[in-house]
Amino acid sequence: MTDLSQTNQKLYEGKAKIIYATADPEVLITYFKDDATAFNAQKKGQIAEKGMVNCKVTTHLYRLLEKQGVATHLIEQTSDREIKVKRVDIVPLEVVVRNIAAGSLCKQTSIDLGTPLSPPLVEFYYKNDDLGDPLLTRDRIAAMQITTADQLDQLVSKAQTVNTLLTNFFSDCDIILIDFKLEFGTDANGTLLLADEISPDTCRLWDKTESDPQKRVMDKDRFRQDLGNVAEGYQAVLQRIMTQVEE
Ligand code: 5GP
Repeated sequence: MTDLSQTNQKLYEGKAKIIYATADPEVLITYFKDDATAFNAQKKGQIAEKGMVNCKVTTHLYRLLEKQGVATHLIEQTSDREIKVKRVDIVPLEVVVRNIAAGSLCKQTSIDLGTPLSPPLVEFYYKNDDLGDPLLTRDRIAAMQITTADQLDQLVSKAQTVNTLLTNFFSDCDIILIDFKLEFGTDANGTLLLADEISPDTCRLWDKTESDPQKRVMDKDRFRQDLGNVAEGYQAVLQRIMTQVEE
């Protein structure tokens, strides 16, 4: 597999990924870095092989979702750390789905860590580092003219579908999908596509076979909370996914 990032123009560098142009203006390359940040980049570090793991995990999960009718921006994986994707205009919302209470939900409400959420929560955060990605309401989204009400309904419905499919898949991997963040974009035809990535960087994943509250964590919370064995957590997620895919 060739490393297209060596020859292609860099369009944008984010905290965990770099976007490169290709000869086709409607096609981009996403390169996954080992760099890790948390708490709006106040905490910085590296996680060994994270780029490779997240690239592979994203590819497998997006293929699984595509097979079940969820349109994504993925075209193909082109190297260990790179995927070719359709160019989209990113909707500036982080769509977060929560099955079990954790993270900011527990910090900001009276809901205890580990509380099952039925039905799952679907929340919107404004993708804006300067403002600290604030939680939005439907009315604020309308007032800011980020999406139409119809497009917002589509985002909720797609996020719920992704949640059902991924919850079942991860469960087969003996992993509990606690919560996750999605991003969407519109392609040249105005079609809404799932974009960005789905990986241990963007999901909370607990080992179903482990009850210890620290040992069960397989995702970026190991880095956020200094739990140690961060790279091992990511590798374990990849290994379980690959085993499940091959079965
Ligand atoms: P929380 O709001 O509890 O911090 O995050 C909820 C879920 O969304 C977690 O799985 C978390 O990893 C993901 N998430 C929320 N915001 C971001 C973000 O800006 N970057 C990444 N990588 N994940 C996020």
